[in-house]
Amino acid sequence: MATIIDGKALAAKMRLLIKQGVDDYKQKYNREIGLAVVMAGDNPASQVYVRNKIKACEEVGIKSFSYTLPKNSSQNDVEELVKALAEDDKINGILVQLPLPAHLDAEKVLKLIPTAKDVDGFSAENIGKLAMNEECLVACTPNGVMKMLEHYGINVSGKRAVVVGRSNIVGKPMAMLLLNADATVTVCHSRTKNLKAECLNADILIAAVGKAKFITADMVKEGAVVIDVGMNRDENGKLCGDVDFESVKDKCSYITPVPGGVGPMTITMLMYNTLQAALFRR
Ligand code: NAP
Repeated sequence: MATIIDGKALAAKMRLLIKQGVDDYKQKYNREIGLAVVMAGDNPASQVYVRNKIKACEEVGIKSFSYTLPKNSSQNDVEELVKALAEDDKINGILVQLPLPAHLDAEKVLKLIPTAKDVDGFSAENIGKLAMNEECLVACTPNGVMKMLEHYGINVSGKRAVVVGRSNIVGKPMAMLLLNADATVTVCHSRTKNLKAECLNADILIAAVGKAKFITADMVKEGAVVIDVGMNRDENGKLCGDVDFESVKDKCSYITPVPGGVGPMTITMLMYNTLQAALFRR
């Protein structure tokens, strides 16, 4: 039976450290750290995410500024708000909650967030810096995965890491982080020819596919470390990951559960990035 990586416990521990960092910052510079959260419309899932982010801000002492624009806002309305936040000294980080209503061009809005306030780490500049292994704001979910590996003393250097999924927000930055940590990295996707054979090579297997219980025990090498980024609903509507936890847990050395694994780390890393953004500006 594998060691279950407890993302919830690690997230709680990290939030205490972040709170300490925020308190130190406030004392040293005599100013608050501000995070602006922009939402348009009334998507229920987005409302939950935004609420959780605001709650996390309260927990670590970051001042949140929440903006909810009506569903029928124009592109100009959203852009003008983001431009104003970009100029606002009280704001260290700007987060635009996705998805925006379909009539809005999210990419154009996101491009207005200055690199220094891009606490999601989605901008071309931050991704470029990550590729060059330079100091930058790193996408929260993959950065959270790296913190988990580090915390559990899982050495990445020289290991074969396989990332299943190549999205700009998870798979690609995940692969770059692992490469920067000296792993030998393979990135798989929907066109990969023999996925099972690729996965069986992995000392560290990261699943970021978005398909319930997609990674099964026969795709996992004995003793591998398995990180499940997926957040899906199973046939009974229960939250589950991309990994078939029940069968895989007996084959691997470490595994993250869903819920309670990668998920709790993501918002924590948003708080971490907001503190970083404030510190970088000093
Ligand atoms: P995404 O943008 O839909 O990307 C999914 C990736 O999986 C794509 O690269 C796709 O390949 C690949 N894929 C799809 N079917 C495949 C197959 N049969 N074989 C191999 N690869 C396949 O998803 P995402 O935004 O990266 O998110 C992935 C999962 O993580 C989702 O469940 C999401 O909810 C979850 N997530 C969780 C958190 C968290 O905080 N825990 C944060 C973000 C995302 P192509 O590129 O070829 O299409």
